[in-house]
Amino acid sequence: MATENIIDKEQLRKNLDEVIWKIEDARLAISEHHIVKLVTVGKYTNIENISTLYELGQRAFGENQVQQLEKRSDLLEHIPLEWHFIGSLQKNKINKLIDIRPSLVHSIDSIELALALNEKLEKKNTKLNALLQINSANEESKSGVSTQEAQDIYQEIIERCPNLQLKGVMSIGAHSNNQRVIKESFEATHKIYESLQKDGASICSMGMSGDYELAIACGSNLVRIGSVIFK
Ligand SMILES: *Cc1c(COP(=O)(O)O)cnc(C)c1O
Repeated sequence: MATENIIDKEQLRKNLDEVIWKIEDARLAISEHHIVKLVTVGKYTNIENISTLYELGQRAFGENQVQQLEKRSDLLEHIPLEWHFIGSLQKNKINKLIDIRPSLVHSIDSIELALALNEKLEKKNTKLNALLQINSANEESKSGVSTQEAQDIYQEIIERCPNLQLKGVMSIGAHSNNQRVIKESFEATHKIYESLQKDGASICSMGMSGDYELAIACGSNLVRIGSVIFK
């Protein structure tokens, strides 16, 4: 996708409005009290389009590479954006990520990563909000803990990683053309999320451009959307 492509403000307004109304319809179908947060994913686009989206009222942005997140949060420091890290985190990028102070890291995908992050956070005397990533369709190609282990690992992180503040779970819908298969993967994640609410889980991050309405119908309260906005 062409990241150099600057999108017309009116086009971005139209794309954003359309997504917001679809989110609105999907959440109201559950309950007027079901609030859904939109994180726009900028990995396919440039900072010009991100700033335009800010002018249109959008505040939360996600990136899946530490380097890109660092560069963009630096270049856009003058505007009050909320940054989310949504990609796989390599251990050698942990220090850099902590220094960016993202609002939420969605992608804690193993106890090893949680422990490594916690150690660095302790050294820096700081805390970080995070989600446990669940590989809900048990796909080879995806990161995340299995649905069977998710609850135990969540508990273990709470006990052993006091500087990592777990806020809930994240999952990427099953890679399938079959809506039923995708729905089952969202339902599996949501079920785990519900069981973790007693431990303080309040965020269920699931849903991307192709499946966010279905994700909301299954109980998602945070959607991560890129391609349908930056088109
Ligand atoms: C890229 C990405 C998204 C956004 O994907 P779109 O299909 O472009 O909306 C959401 N979540 C994660 C983890 C991603 O890497």
